Amino acid sequence: MSQDIFVLIEHLRGQVADISYIMLAAARTLASSSGGQVAAVLLGKDAQKLAGNLAADKVLYADSPALTEFTSEAYQLTLAKLIEEQSPRAVLFGHTTIGADVAGWLSGKLSLPLVSSCVNFTSDGKFLSQTCGGKIMAEGDLPSPTILVTMIPGGYKSEQGQAAQASAIESFTPPALDNLRVALKKYIEPEAGDVDISKSPFLIAVGRGIQNKDNLDLPNELAAAINGTVCASRPVVDQGWLPTSRLVGKSGKRVKPKIYLALGISGAPEHVEGINESDVIVAVNTDANAPIFNVAKYGTTLDLLDLVPQLTEKVKQAKGG
Ligand SMILES: Cc1cc2nc3c(=O)[nH]c(=O)nc-3n(C[C@H](O)[C@H](O)[C@H](O)COP(=O)(O)OP(=O)(O)OC[C@H]3O[C@@H](n4cnc5c(N)ncnc54)[C@H](O)[C@@H]3O)c2cc1C
Repeated sequence: MSQDIFVLIEHLRGQVADISYIMLAAARTLASSSGGQVAAVLLGKDAQKLAGNLAADKVLYADSPALTEFTSEAYQLTLAKLIEEQSPRAVLFGHTTIGADVAGWLSGKLSLPLVSSCVNFTSDGKFLSQTCGGKIMAEGDLPSPTILVTMIPGGYKSEQGQAAQASAIESFTPPALDNLRVALKKYIEPEAGDVDISKSPFLIAVGRGIQNKDNLDLPNELAAAINGTVCASRPVVDQGWLPTSRLVGKSGKRVKPKIYLALGISGAPEHVEGINESDVIVAVNTDANAPIFNVAKYGTTLDLLDLVPQLTEKVKQAKGG
């Protein structure tokens, strides 16, 4: 078994997914404790250009028409062959649709242990992972031989996994990928939203604490005064009070604004997953024990319905002055 740490690079439509960079940063910590190298595993067709800024010691690249787009079967077979041939110390996958699909299958097929929902690694090689939807953090040693890990964002910044210079590319041959039972028939672009919340530097996020649709006037007025954008947690979108394009979190968008003002949001892991790269999180929640305060830099337990109109007034006065 080698001591190398492999990272499956996720990419879609010619873009490397952020989670790949986050995993490369995590792999660096793990490689310093194992004494191995970080290897980015890139599967695709004419996709070498995606290797340009991966912070890895090497890129293991498989090129095949069957790997042009992600399909579970082609990825599973290719990775199974690579892992059997090279026996790395660990293979990191995003805790994403792709990662969960591939890592679960590989664990069963190759009888390898799997740690899921891992957030980070300690310098002595222990993992920290979320269980029970983030209410409990589990710490443990990584079992041998090769360990498969799915990772969620939160422990590392994506910039830490980006390099100015390209790493050396080592090609490897995938197995025969004909007669596959799974094929991509059509890629359907998601509907364009009214605004792109991931581009706004100031987000005013509303949660169930807003209580009803009419109360949305309050954050809307604040957003207009401060030139921000209103977004939401899932209950607000599920009620149809705001469109899905405004949803933040696991099933919505990941955002990185300068300021994220969370109004009446409890801070469930599925929501926090989408905001933990914000520069500053400010929480307004009447429950002092709400988990949102664990990730907020500033917070208050004032009632948002009292606070927001006053805040809007202050902003207007300041602008007038
Ligand atoms: C597979 C899966 C995917 C999911 N994906 C997402 C996702 O992408 N995004 C997402 O947001 N959720 C997602 N969820 C749901 C998530 O688990 C939570 O249920 C959701 O985030 C809770 O939303 P909330 O914080 O607005 O509501 P709640 O948890 O009900 O919190 C409301 C908060 O408002 C506070 N409050 C009430 N009144 C006031 C007031 N007047 N002033 C101030 N504070 C007040 C309360 O104290 C409370 O903390 C997902 C769940 C699953 C299982």
